[in-house]
Order: sequence, then structure tokens, then C-alpha cells
Amino acid sequence: AQTRAAQAERMEALGQLAGGIAHDFNNVLQAVTGGIAAMERRAPDPGQVKQFARMIREAAARGASVTRRLLVFARRSDLRTEPVEVATLLEGMQQMLRHTLDGSIEVRVDTDPCVPKLLADRHQLETVLVNLATNARDAMPEGGTVTFRARAEAVLAPGHEIGLRPGRYVALAVADTGTGMDAETLARATEPFFTTKDTGKGTGLGLATARGFAEQSRGGLHIDSTPGRGTTVTLYLPTAEAPSHSDCPQDVSQAPTTP
Ligand code: ADP
Repeated sequence: AQTRAAQAERMEALGQLAGGIAHDFNNVLQAVTGGIAAMERRAPDPGQVKQFARMIREAAARGASVTRRLLVFARRSDLRTEPVEVATLLEGMQQMLRHTLDGSIEVRVDTDPCVPKLLADRHQLETVLVNLATNARDAMPEGGTVTFRARAEAVLAPGHEIGLRPGRYVALAVADTGTGMDAETLARATEPFFTTKDTGKGTGLGLATARGFAEQSRGGLHIDSTPGRGTTVTLYLPTAEAPSHSDCPQDVSQAPTTP
């Protein structure tokens, strides 16, 4: 328990540090971007200056996307929580990923019609799901299937294995048929900056961000992985309301519990 507490403290400190850096870095980038934009407009010799200016502006834009990811991970950015209709969200995700992922990867969606709306920041949820799908793709170099699954889940008693409070949740799973993770990788997977990917390929912030997002949304994250068979990452996000579909149970807390 001692080491766990110490580790949590270190994570907290790391998160604060990352948040501070992201905040400052972002201010700097804003000045750089604004200055370059002005220079582009007024440059006397547009030719080369413009070319360099464009290069710098694109670099700044990449830097800004890094700080956005850091901000999510450091839980500094404000979440705009709203009721999200899961089926629509996942269909949009499927369309988008079919175009962006390799053709050897099939994208499936399996949404329980009784799934109620969930409460989360839609934009950040989409970012997290894209990150999870990217991890799935990386784990399937020979191709395979990534499946988005959505189910209603009720937690009736405290003591849930990932610390979920009793309540109603939408379980949103991203499952792949890839390499899976060995025990050591699985144990460290959500640690910030932990990556097994080559330099430049992985930041080690994908799963840390996903977990931070889920916890900040008053839910949680669970990873299930079998080497050689695949990985399922499940986000538990609180529900916004009882299901509207008339065939569905009005109170999912009557539904069977999962541990
Ligand atoms: P990154 O993808 O940048 O390495 P993540 O935090 O998203 O950072 O993941 C950390 C590590 O967890 C990865 O480097 C990889 O070893 C492992 N991992 C994550 N997702 C999967 C997956 N779907 N299948 C197998 N391993 C995974």
C-alpha cells in the first residue's frame, strides 16, 4: 500500500509538472504563431520568407497538438460534459476509421440498442477512441478486426476492481485481434510515457490519457489482454439518463452486475 501511495503521489506530481509545461508551452506557441502570421502578411520579400514562415507555422501547429494531448492527460483542460448518443458517435467513428486505417483492418460496431446516453466531453471522447483504435492498428501489423462495443453496466456495490462508484455506466470497449500484451506491459500500460514502440512512434501517453479522461469523467478504464489473441480496452462512463427505448429496462440498476 505504501508503494502504491508513493506511486500515486509521483503520478500526481508528474501530472502537475506536465500541466505546467503544457500551459507555458502553449502561451509561447501562441506568441510564435501570431508573430509569424504578422510577418507573413508584411514581409517585403515574400518568396523565401514565406516558405520558412510556413515551415515554422506548421511546426508550431504540431507543437500545439502535443500540448493539447498533455493538457488532457494532466487534467488541466476543462471538460465540456454533455449527454452523448453512443450509437451515432460510434457510427461516425467507424466511417472515419474506415478511411484512415489500413485496408487490412476491419472496423466493426456492436451497440446494444438499450444503451442510454453517456455523460462525457464528446470531443475528448472521440480523441481517446481514435487513440485506442490507433493502438489497435499498431498491434495488428498483419491486419485484423477492431470492434467498438457499447453496453449498459450497473455497479451496485462499492469495491469494484477499478474503483467505480456504484451507479449506472456505459461500457465502451475497443477490442482488437492483435498481438496482446505480456504481463509486464499490461501492468505498466497506463503509466505516463511508458511505451514499447520505437522512438518517434509512441509517446506513451495514449492509455494514460484515456485513463485520465475516464477517471475525470467519473468513470474508469479497464484493460484485458491475452498475448497472441488481442486486447480489449474498456471505458466506463456514467450514463446521462434512463434508456428511452420502450423495450428496454427503465432502470438498468436491476440488470445483472459485473465485478
Ligand atoms: P503508445 O501507443 O504511444 O506507446 P500508449 O499509452 O497508448 O502509448 O500505450 C502504451 C503501451 O501499451 C504501448 O507501447 C504498447 O506496448 C501497449 N499497448 C497499448 N495498446 C495496445 C494494444 N491494443 N495491443 C497491444 N499492446 C498495446
